[in-house]
Amino acid sequence: MNILLVSFEALTGLPELFGYILISIFGAMVGSFLNVVIHRVPNEESIVFPNSACPKCGKSIKPYDNIPILSWLILRGKCRNCKNSISARYPAVELLIATLFVIVYWQIGFSPFLPVCLIFVAAVVALIFIDAENMILPNVITYPLLVFTLLVRLIYPLFFGTEFFSDFKIFPLNFMQDFPGWLVSLAGAVLGGLVGGGSLWLVGEIWKRLRGVDAMGLGDVKMMFAVGALLGWQLTLLSIFLGAFTGAIIGVFLISRQKEKDMQTQIPFGIFLGIGSVISLLFGEQIVKWYLSMFV
Ligand SMILES: [Zn+2]
Repeated sequence: MNILLVSFEALTGLPELFGYILISIFGAMVGSFLNVVIHRVPNEESIVFPNSACPKCGKSIKPYDNIPILSWLILRGKCRNCKNSISARYPAVELLIATLFVIVYWQIGFSPFLPVCLIFVAAVVALIFIDAENMILPNVITYPLLVFTLLVRLIYPLFFGTEFFSDFKIFPLNFMQDFPGWLVSLAGAVLGGLVGGGSLWLVGEIWKRLRGVDAMGLGDVKMMFAVGALLGWQLTLLSIFLGAFTGAIIGVFLISRQKEKDMQTQIPFGIFLGIGSVISLLFGEQIVKWYLSMFV
């Protein structure tokens, strides 16, 4: 993504540090909400009702015990009522989202594209954790994410110009300069979606024909279609590459630790594609520039 830095200080008169503090608090709160999403969406439960409750004793959690990160630390990871331990995943997700939001803010600044990146990161992190626990990427997240990225591709060029999308400057969109921005943008989204989702679908199909097993879930295809629609084909290829790279490293590590050497161990690939997509959103432009500079 291209950076259109608008200083928080210039806009509000408050020190820049305030922006970082606000975004990290906001991130922890979003992380707290994502914990509910990660916990309930795979079970097809409502994410609004009922209020959060202890998974062990079922007692609903009071608002003062539901402060992101802090409550878990104050209660030392135990339920106030039944003293059973509460998974460290909860504060970990809150801390992760707070950290990622700070990095997004640092990279994008106080720009109209900030909410887009925050929503994208939040959705992909939710998918990563759900895939890790349940080996699925639910349609109730991947479909809205795809609709969201397509709407951004359509609406942002109309209101804010095309500066946010890096694929406008590269082949083949650079040949569409005389077309209206929103049309070029949508073409870039479709191309990115095909490169992201289409390539995975093709790999899965070929694998199925050759080996007779479903290696690639359709959830991965849908997620990467949405990722590709926002990032464009170049950063999407980078996402897949980064995902395969981290997946291979962690896969080798897991297999080496396994007692029985069973190579058919299923690895939820969505985790690594998700990690690759977030890295690509945040640092993709820099990585591509650095990579290309090695050949020039
Ligand atoms: Zn309890």
